[in-house]
Amino acid sequence: MAAFNKVAAQGPIHSREVADKSVKGALVRAIRMALDVESEAVRRNTQTFNQGRYKATADIEDYEGLKDRARAIKEAAIDNLPELLSRLEAAVTSRGSHFYLARDGVDACNYIKRICLERQARLVVKAKSMTTEEIRLNGVLEQAGIEVVETDLAEFILQVSGEQPSHIVAPAIHRSRERISTLFKDAFETDCPLDTGEDLTRFARDQLREKFITADIGISGANLIAADTGTLVLVESEGNIRMVTQAPPVHIAVAGVEKVVPQRKDLAPFIELLGPSGTGQPLTSYTSVIAPPLDYPSFAFGGPPAQDRQFHLVLIDNGRMAMRQDPVFREALYCIRCSACLNVCANFQAVGGHAFGGETYSGGIGGAWEAGTGSLQKARFAELCTGCSRCIPQCPVRIDIPWLNTVLKSRLDQAGGGVPLQKQLFGNFQILARWGSHLAPLAGWVWCLNLSRLLMEKLAGVDHRPDLPVFAARTLTRQYRKWRKKRAPQVQPPGRETPRRAVLLFADSYTNYTHPQRGLATVEVLERLGVQVELSKVMAEGRAALSQGMIARASQRAGDAAAYLKDHIDQGRDIVAVEPSVLALFRYDYRHLLEDNAMFEKLKTHSYDPVEYLQKIIVEDELEIGHIFNVDKTTGERVFFHGHCQQKSIDPTADLLRQLGFDVATSSAECCGMAGSFGYKREYHELSMSVGEDLFDQIQQTEIPGDDRIILASGISCCEQIRAGIGRPVLHPMELLAGVML
Ligand code: SF4
Ligand code: SF4
Repeated sequence: MAAFNKVAAQGPIHSREVADKSVKGALVRAIRMALDVESEAVRRNTQTFNQGRYKATADIEDYEGLKDRARAIKEAAIDNLPELLSRLEAAVTSRGSHFYLARDGVDACNYIKRICLERQARLVVKAKSMTTEEIRLNGVLEQAGIEVVETDLAEFILQVSGEQPSHIVAPAIHRSRERISTLFKDAFETDCPLDTGEDLTRFARDQLREKFITADIGISGANLIAADTGTLVLVESEGNIRMVTQAPPVHIAVAGVEKVVPQRKDLAPFIELLGPSGTGQPLTSYTSVIAPPLDYPSFAFGGPPAQDRQFHLVLIDNGRMAMRQDPVFREALYCIRCSACLNVCANFQAVGGHAFGGETYSGGIGGAWEAGTGSLQKARFAELCTGCSRCIPQCPVRIDIPWLNTVLKSRLDQAGGGVPLQKQLFGNFQILARWGSHLAPLAGWVWCLNLSRLLMEKLAGVDHRPDLPVFAARTLTRQYRKWRKKRAPQVQPPGRETPRRAVLLFADSYTNYTHPQRGLATVEVLERLGVQVELSKVMAEGRAALSQGMIARASQRAGDAAAYLKDHIDQGRDIVAVEPSVLALFRYDYRHLLEDNAMFEKLKTHSYDPVEYLQKIIVEDELEIGHIFNVDKTTGERVFFHGHCQQKSIDPTADLLRQLGFDVATSSAECCGMAGSFGYKREYHELSMSVGEDLFDQIQQTEIPGDDRIILASGISCCEQIRAGIGRPVLHPMELLAGVML
């Protein structure tokens, strides 16, 4: 134990010196460090959590309904927060306990320090609490001469190493077992065996047991608090929270005000969701539902009888009430800190929360929390959110995390004096692409010159390594016109007299200027099935601008595009968008960008992915697959399909390919890493390629020497990334299907 005390007294253990993420260079350095040292452990651990979550949530009978109930409770709670706090205070004080509402971290720390000094506390044991991390409580107590011991194994590791948490549920997720073992051996100068997880746990337990028994005060957080009864819910995996809350005579619970829900019965949906969403357990190993002060004696040796137990509930505002007034960041207050959004995020998997995180909070949701409880500048790491939206369906309270980060990017740029050149360039892709196509192939040749690449890197932050998109001289629009001259406007489907469907194929800038062949293949397939296909005029729909956080520009473009598309829908056409990120814009993101909600709903319900539309025709018209496609050609043909982040949950491609007899392997990688412009940016290119490695490995693992699979990807940036990673051509599924039609 002496070694532990020596380490604890050495100074910077709790000082939480953190790189200033407001400086972009610091963020880049943090990414490099994380890729070099922490990536492997974070990736392995988050992916294990993901596997658990997918299984555990699939076992919940009405998962979507449960999420709706949880969301509704949180919305109502935040709406009525001032009233709930009054009710909670009455409930807590009526039990003889103490209630304190702290305006900020300093206020909260002072209150807690005063309680400790009044009790002449020498030793405080703590359970894991992100809120006490937020207010830097440990340092304040230690400066007052009080020994503070973290009892959660991961927090204990961080206390010894002097690091900040890198994950909100598993704070030491970035440390491999080997690194923990080395840390303990160095810090405690011990010869104890520390080679296995069991060894490490036993060692930490031996250090901590005496602390539990002799502690004067236990400090915990709280996952949820019911206003009507003052009931706390505390979930954990190790049992240390039970020790912290029950062994010492005084228990102080510290939580943000957003943890309060109206009634005890409202706790149930969250208890059901927390375990599956966080660690993938149906229920966390220990779930304590307590209404302190407890009415039985402390079992600490020499502890006071039950009547002398003391309980303090310290609730913290620290910016939360201002977040409540913010039309966007209010949503972050619904967060139940389950960590699903961190685990599912490809960029988080690659670097963890020391790069994709701030001083306390990490991952996609962390930016809003750092901005809300700290300052906007501390949320600079929100730039690591690519807006892929993989986290939205994983969030048990349906928070639109990418939108929070888009707004953060926008506010950061406004605060920084305007949108930087790099973002202007990527956010106005269609202008660049139009000129690139006009001047092709000369433009392509010029901008691939070494000198051009170096200039672009220096002036606009476009990394010199990745191949840039090749702008086509023969754009989709030109090819379509030519194709249309040769073909009758429609072809009757087998057995059908009149065409019943009409489609506007949206010619987004990416498809039109860089990958026209996928658009043309879509026209061919749909027309062969009797669909009247018209090509839209080429227009900027706002995707490029939105990805850069240029919200005003994106809104203006969304308004123009939606008005144009609505006219076509009113004329009886469905909209088919080949590029998945553009389809996601129509279906989801436009709700933030369009003032007219009815227009958004109309566009949402009439927009389709091409394979989805094809599948719809087959099902609704009861078409025989063998009458449309040459199954002799498709049966047994080996393909690998990587779906786009923004359509993974709805993508019917793999199913249709299997129906056609293809031998289909699919990727389980969350993202290819390119994510639109992300992988082209100088500061993120290495991260992008690191994310892509999972996908490249998966493709290669499915190969048989001499018999390469056909590689398919729906997203253009996925195509570019795979091509860069493994040097093979990649097709859109419609290109493959166009080639196997009868
Ligand atoms: S939108 Fe994608 S990149 Fe952003 S936090 Fe969610 S999963 Fe991560
Ligand atoms: S934002 Fe949602 S998924 Fe992420 S930690 Fe909070 S509740 Fe969990």
